[in-house]
Amino acid sequence: MSIRDDFELEFERKVLDTINIYNLFTNNDKVLVACSGGKDSTTILYILKKYDFNVEAITVDALIGNYTKENLKNIENFCRQQRIKLHKISFRDKFGRSLCFIQSILKKNGVSMNSCAVCGVLRRYLLNKESRRIKPSCIVTGHNLDDEAQSFMMNLLRNKLSLSARLGPKSGLVQDEKFIPRVKPLYFCKEDDIIRYSKLKRFNVIYAPCPCRTDAFRKKTADFLDSLEKNNPRIKENIIMNFLRVLPKLKQRYHTDKKIRYCKSCGEPSRGEICNTCNIIKLAAK
Ligand code: SF4
Ligand SMILES: [Zn+2]
Repeated sequence: MSIRDDFELEFERKVLDTINIYNLFTNNDKVLVACSGGKDSTTILYILKKYDFNVEAITVDALIGNYTKENLKNIENFCRQQRIKLHKISFRDKFGRSLCFIQSILKKNGVSMNSCAVCGVLRRYLLNKESRRIKPSCIVTGHNLDDEAQSFMMNLLRNKLSLSARLGPKSGLVQDEKFIPRVKPLYFCKEDDIIRYSKLKRFNVIYAPCPCRTDAFRKKTADFLDSLEKNNPRIKENIIMNFLRVLPKLKQRYHTDKKIRYCKSCGEPSRGEICNTCNIIKLAAK
């Protein structure tokens, strides 16, 4: 067996072990992969299909010019080749405008929220709402070890430990019939390994970052962790392994019995009377 075959099998084994050890789902479950058309979601979609999971894909197009046009084309081609059912949602159909347009009106109205924050809220909202009609057991996301180590560090540095209680291979703290659980089978896979796997498999994906990426703090944290890894390649794994040791305590500490509220405007789960999505859309309507 070649070094290449060894790497591919070891990589796939790591993903399958994560699914089994953390009880993310089984071959009897219908799973829905949230796809951007990028390397992470394409990789997990491919592996789940290869190992006979009952998988469908869903993509939310935020209409970020050529970037999302190319990504959409790539994921459509990939799903066609792999015979995977693809569900498509677009910001234009659901909100009547693109992310860039929403962002420009928010800016004009003096609302300071970066593109990634707006995009994240709106995408998660659509993903959860539209997925319910497909009735999957869970939504699979392409978050990898680098993403998760960054998120935990960012929460520590911002003194927002409670947010880390929602992290882990199975996301979230609260259960509600309107929330579809989210799981991360690439949780222990390093970004470099995903890039290597994706290139070995010749996936047609864009490796350049999204042109609207504006989360400067995440970028700084990522660069910092990368620089530390030059001397110790296990830094991110160490962060994640230690995080997982304290995660049960965090879940206990931040567990809440409070009932989930529902947005008075749209009826979706919400922390306040009106959900973040409805607030954003209202602010971007003027
Ligand atoms: S990088 Fe930011 S703006 Fe671009 S797709 Fe991701 S969340 Fe949206
Ligand atoms: Zn709402």
